[in-house]
Amino acid sequence: MRDLLANLFFGGTCFVCRGGSRELLCTACRSELPRLAGELCPRCALPSPAAAVCGRCLAEPPAYDATTAALAYDFPADALVHALKFRGELALAPFLGKLLSGAVQDETIDRIVPVPLSAARLRSRGYNQAVEIARHLAGGKLDVDACVRHQDAAPQTGLPWDERRRNVRGAFRCPRPLAGARVAVVDDVMTTGATLEEVARTLKRAGAARVVNWVVARTLPPS
Ligand SMILES: [Zn+2]
Ligand SMILES: [Zn+2]
Repeated sequence: MRDLLANLFFGGTCFVCRGGSRELLCTACRSELPRLAGELCPRCALPSPAAAVCGRCLAEPPAYDATTAALAYDFPADALVHALKFRGELALAPFLGKLLSGAVQDETIDRIVPVPLSAARLRSRGYNQAVEIARHLAGGKLDVDACVRHQDAAPQTGLPWDERRRNVRGAFRCPRPLAGARVAVVDDVMTTGATLEEVARTLKRAGAARVVNWVVARTLPPS
């Protein structure tokens, strides 16, 4: 099915290098994906010596308990995420969902909750890329209504990092209690983590016992 979609949408060429490929990405591009590896803070997935909880997470513990990211947000991960989010390349969703599935450790989860879009943005975009990715993870645990976005903040892109947290404060709401639930929150990219922090705060206020982030790509600080 994936091959069929790839051929329909991409005409048998690799999405990245445009060389011949029967899949979305040719073998070479697939092997060069910027996989996130090495010693990472378990809480925020940024590099941290000995994979210990990093200084930032110790000083100011985030509302989420753990983060798993499949890729670093470098080329071509950024191009793939961007094409799914802004260009309607929905055939990328199963590919990215499968990558994320492969990165996620065995963890008992009760619900998979994609980061919601506001109703207005959902109408204008026509789909929520986080939902499209999460569809390919869920073993019947996808819960798209557990958290809703009732407030349209300015897009986070382009805002200074310290303003992003204020920008999303109070943007989400849980319509139902989540007493004791272990929740995985799915998004395409984690940059400062401000949006995921606010989602986790909202889920925990609704009673969630544990909140982990599952993201396709993690923006790393410049090295
Ligand atoms: Zn290629
Ligand atoms: Zn950390």
